[in-house]
Amino acid sequence: MAANGIFIVRILRQAGPQEKPHWEEFEIRGRTGLNIITVFRDIAENPVTRDGRGTTPISYDANCLEEICGACAMLINGYPRQACSALVANLEKPIRLEPLKKFPVVRDLSVDRSVMFENLKRTKCWIPIDGTYPLGEGPRMAPELQEKGYPLSRCITCGNCLEICPRVNEHSHFVGAAIISQVRLFNMHPTGAMHAGERLDALMGEGGIEDCDNAQNCVKVCPKGIPLTESLAAINGQVLKHAVTGWLRG
Ligand code: SF4
Repeated sequence: MAANGIFIVRILRQAGPQEKPHWEEFEIRGRTGLNIITVFRDIAENPVTRDGRGTTPISYDANCLEEICGACAMLINGYPRQACSALVANLEKPIRLEPLKKFPVVRDLSVDRSVMFENLKRTKCWIPIDGTYPLGEGPRMAPELQEKGYPLSRCITCGNCLEICPRVNEHSHFVGAAIISQVRLFNMHPTGAMHAGERLDALMGEGGIEDCDNAQNCVKVCPKGIPLTESLAAINGQVLKHAVTGWLRG
């Protein structure tokens, strides 16, 4: 397709959580630098399907438009990725857009990813600080530890890694690689380490690290290049050690 040629976009639409999904097709005029978010804006300016029927603008989530907020994750030609960084010129045509399948649909391409935030709470992925009196300086973090932790801190909770994981499905409660990687991050922090045992306890039961079957798809779709398989292996080791020492402690 020439940069300014017409291309077709097929979008799986759904008016609400309980409504039946249906496909709509749109013809879009190509331009240099066009991304999927701009396609949605084009449709909003003229919400008419390819066969001439008037329709509504597409619902989707987006915020930063520079692959930092994680909100615009969706299936683009069957692959979970961010709409803001998906350039039309690099995509096979017709372009197929669907909501992530592992999360409840709110409307069209907007999904409810609150399960991820609930699991971050369940695994205590934060550092508790008593703010009622001055605590002084926290422990210093060695530069080597900072370098190890920084890549993990780049998670944008987009959900791509859960979407691609065969163990995240309606029959399992597996928390997924993103949450396990955050447990690793907070356990390696000098202050966060004080509560490492509680985080590992949360990953020992149903939906925890044992539910990972090492498919290693997660690491391939992470837009932030987080070493997820390393995190899964590290937490597997921590959980095993925690289980053995717990048994010895009686
Ligand atoms: Fe997205 Fe990567 Fe975080 Fe998974 S680990 S939620 S793919 S940023």
